Amino acid sequence: MRPSKGWRSEIGDGMSEDKTTMLVGADYTADDYDGDAHVPADAALRRLVEGNRIYVEALDHERDLSPERIADLFENGQRPFACVITCADSRVVPEHIFMTGLGELFVIRVAGNVVGPIELASAVYSCEHLHTRLLLVLGHTHCGAIKAALDGEAGPVAAITERIAAALGDVRDPYEASVANARAAAAELAASPELTLLVAEHDLDIRVAIYHTHCGVVDFL
Ligand SMILES: [Zn+2]
Repeated sequence: MRPSKGWRSEIGDGMSEDKTTMLVGADYTADDYDGDAHVPADAALRRLVEGNRIYVEALDHERDLSPERIADLFENGQRPFACVITCADSRVVPEHIFMTGLGELFVIRVAGNVVGPIELASAVYSCEHLHTRLLLVLGHTHCGAIKAALDGEAGPVAAITERIAAALGDVRDPYEASVANARAAAAELAASPELTLLVAEHDLDIRVAIYHTHCGVVDFL
């Protein structure tokens, strides 16, 4: 096993063993995933829930960005445990929100977390080739792209706002708009033949969550 100042050791500093176990969850740590075994979707989800709780409570914000970790990932390849599609908003940073280090999340970011052909192909790459079994669409509150869509903005941002407006329909409540937009992206993903097959035969789980921009809490829907 590679020596590392990974999730368990960092979070464990100054805490009881029981609390460390509770924080990281029983099924998964970055250190003991060897890349050959797929992290099941439910274990990946628990890892994200726990990571977000630590992020909100500011118990620890240190991640493994060490030269050793960079070299390990270069030599042995990436082995992310989940794929996250989220907005390009600079306040919405999955690696921080879920307390993950290098090589743990495959992240696709685009304004409004919309899913078009490029985002879909990126997700398929993660789920097929990197074997991530959790595909999470992470929308967020106070999204500028959604507001632009609600305001009917077009012009240079039309490629995004038109897609969002179609997802919203008659929805005008800001939170419900974030939910509707994220659900539409998830539906777009779920409709693809590649991901449909992975859901049916390889336990891929496509989920939706909303990040509360004002406080950092993630609602897993
Ligand atoms: Zn946004």
